[in-house]
Amino acid sequence: MDTKRKYVNLVITGNPGVGKHTIAELFLKYDASYQILDINKFAIENDFGERNDDGIEVDTTRLKNEIQKLNLDKLLIVGHLAPYVLDESDIDLAIILRRNPYTLIEIYKERNYQDSKIKQNAGSEILGVIANDSITSFGKEKSFEIDVTNKTPDGILEKINSIINNQKGGDIVDWLRLVEEKNEIGKFFDY
Ligand code: ADP
Ligand code: MG
Repeated sequence: MDTKRKYVNLVITGNPGVGKHTIAELFLKYDASYQILDINKFAIENDFGERNDDGIEVDTTRLKNEIQKLNLDKLLIVGHLAPYVLDESDIDLAIILRRNPYTLIEIYKERNYQDSKIKQNAGSEILGVIANDSITSFGKEKSFEIDVTNKTPDGILEKINSIINNQKGGDIVDWLRLVEEKNEIGKFFDY
């Protein structure tokens, strides 16, 4: 595989279960010169996060302040909170992993998420909340979506490397259409 790449501060974000940590681990396996900043881990270690039934509740304002104090250089920043704790000037590129909501549901069941949490996270994926918030925080030029559904981790990494080197090649993702076609909006959203 082509592992050449320019050095950048790279964000890997997306909803829970899309494969952020799997890809981050693989990324570091090929390029150990990067340092990882795992946002959730950092939040917990620094007491900006409180564990509750739903996972962790993070004080993003305090977390953002603390992250700004770090030496943001050649970092691989991983977490669904990335758009809320980083600014455009902090990063070079944001990769938003997108995954078919029906596949995500299966992962959430394996993780024993409660039904309400499954709906909330799958709904967020369908609406592309994190993708939109990434574009708001980091700008269109720096935000790239990848549909990881049915892709191998190696294939995804290859695509990330290509995006880093060429600043193009993101996917256009629209799960809403898929869910509408199946007439299953009610499965994910309460009205
Ligand atoms: P996240 O860190 O975004 O929550 P994980 O990396 O923990 O996601 O991956 C969620 C689940 O999906 C794990 O069971 C992982 O093994 C699996 N997974 C991750 N990437 C892929 C892939 N490309 N193809 C198939 N399964 C994957
Ligand atoms: Mg994870």
